[in-house]
Amino acid sequence: MAEDLKGAILQRDGETYAVVPRTPAGILSPENLSAITEVVKKYKIPVTKITSGHRLVLVGIKKEDIDPVWQDLNMDIGRATELCFHYVQACPGTAVCRFGVQDSLGLGMNLEKRFYDMEMPAKLKFGVSGCSFCCGESYVRDIGILGKKKGWTLIFGGNSGGRPRIGDVLAEDLETEPLMDLINKVLVFYRDNAKKKERTARFADRMGVDEIKKAIGI
Ligand code: SF4
Repeated sequence: MAEDLKGAILQRDGETYAVVPRTPAGILSPENLSAITEVVKKYKIPVTKITSGHRLVLVGIKKEDIDPVWQDLNMDIGRATELCFHYVQACPGTAVCRFGVQDSLGLGMNLEKRFYDMEMPAKLKFGVSGCSFCCGESYVRDIGILGKKKGWTLIFGGNSGGRPRIGDVLAEDLETEPLMDLINKVLVFYRDNAKKKERTARFADRMGVDEIKKAIGI
């Protein structure tokens, strides 16, 4: 069982720990990269892995090294096991990709800022895509957002896990602020009505898309 020790996750060997630094929308600064490299060498961390959620996990850290590792990283803890907001997965969008029609990366960073501290009944993941190719896997994330020329499409209740579910489209052609307001409404409705550990996919199955739309006024 995982032990909560400053964001450290006990590994299957029962002795060493993993940590996940917070990397909003998968962005790393040169300072982050240098610090990670130095930490991995200094503390002889055997495995550094990119996760499916656009984050890095440093695996195989000794218990006594956890505090100094965080000090040297100088990065926030990325929550990886708790029932809460976990991450925003965002494709490059108009910032980098020639196919992008919306700024998925910028939106992803703003989503993380706005919703990171919100209490949730289960883990919550966002997927943001800058065009209809949907590289941000928006249809299989709790909150999916898809950029089209006319605006954002909001998708709710997707999951790519053991019981996969394609999310329901709640609204289309949204500008950024109305999109943010609608996300807030659907998250408040989910938070206040879901059972503990009930992911949005099962919640959407139980409530039905029409009920969810009615509850958030669309
Ligand atoms: S979803 Fe579109 S904008 Fe985003 S990376 Fe894929 S092709 Fe590029």
